Amino acid sequence: MTAAAAVIDREAERLTELDSPIGDADHGANMQRGFVAVAKMVETEPPATPGGVLTAAGRQLISSVGGASGPLYGTLLRRAGKALGDAPQVSAQELRSALGAGVDAVGQLGGSAPGDKTMLDALVPGVAALATSFDAAAEAAEGGALATVPILARKGRASYLGERSIGHQDPGATSSALLFSALAEVAK
Ligand code: ADP
Ligand code: MG
Ligand code: MG
Repeated sequence: MTAAAAVIDREAERLTELDSPIGDADHGANMQRGFVAVAKMVETEPPATPGGVLTAAGRQLISSVGGASGPLYGTLLRRAGKALGDAPQVSAQELRSALGAGVDAVGQLGGSAPGDKTMLDALVPGVAALATSFDAAAEAAEGGALATVPILARKGRASYLGERSIGHQDPGATSSALLFSALAEVAK
């Protein structure tokens, strides 16, 4: 969570820039606000278990981010935290499957699927490649984010633009790729 907050802070401006042509130019600010709250929580009142950290982080995102991304990422983390339960330690395999459950929950909440030009275009290939390695997951998520450029948006604000959403990279898919890069960094 600390690494995630750092990478989001570093890239916030770019995320907001990506959200200007096909959104409302707030994705970087939304993510930054959310992850500042998460980092503070982890520092001041760290939960005792990995599952507890994910659940509390999800709760912070939901309560501190106004935009669509808050409830979506918040649900991902809360669902993943629930899957880990109160185990004091978790294996890489348990983390992978918990994140898989979290990504499924995003699709359920958003009524979205890969190909809609959303964060799921990075999250789904990212989670699938976790079976190989954390590095492979980061690469797959980055590839998924880049692949949103030629897609027509079917969900979220960008979908209001119809054809005009084509040719722009989805901000949420980009932040998802950043989160996978933070995970890969920490896993080293
Ligand atoms: P808002 O659109 O409310 O301003 P953000 O700018 O923070 O929220 O987040 C926008 C991102 O949220 C989009 O780039 C997209 O990746 C993601 N998103 C929006 N709607 C959905 C959805 N229904 N399913 C999955 N992801 C979505
Ligand atoms: Mg926005
Ligand atoms: Mg907004």
